[in-house]
Amino acid sequence: MARDTKWCQNPKCPEKKLSNQIRGVKGKKYYQSNKANGYGCGNFCTLGCQTEWDNLFMDRAIDALGVRITEPVKVNMENAWLIEYDYTCNAGESRDRYYLTNKLYNVKHPITIQQATINPAEDYPSHKTSAQAKELAQQLGLTHQQ
Ligand SMILES: [Zn+2]
Repeated sequence: MARDTKWCQNPKCPEKKLSNQIRGVKGKKYYQSNKANGYGCGNFCTLGCQTEWDNLFMDRAIDALGVRITEPVKVNMENAWLIEYDYTCNAGESRDRYYLTNKLYNVKHPITIQQATINPAEDYPSHKTSAQAKELAQQLGLTHQQ
């Protein structure tokens, strides 16, 4: 996927007729697509262009890739673990709380920041993934209760 310049993938991008899209010389001027920006995984210049592309091609793209979902996707009880975070500020005191939760088993178990996050030393530590949350639930013996 490495190309030098990535252009906005909306074929209607130049139809926005913005002054920054004007190119060419007197008598031979035209509008051209913008360079792609951070939208749609770096394929579009704006959210508007991404939406326009979605309207034109999304259905065909899903069918062409053979990834259309025709039945609801399900996550079963064993895989329903997640890390929840709660921040409370009471009488000037703030408190971070982390929980290992499985709403399908009705479990909400308090855990430490070390247990809840991948790298607790970071300023805004990322929570563990669902797979890691499931592992933690097994380690803590929470997977046997109903
Ligand atoms: Zn565009």
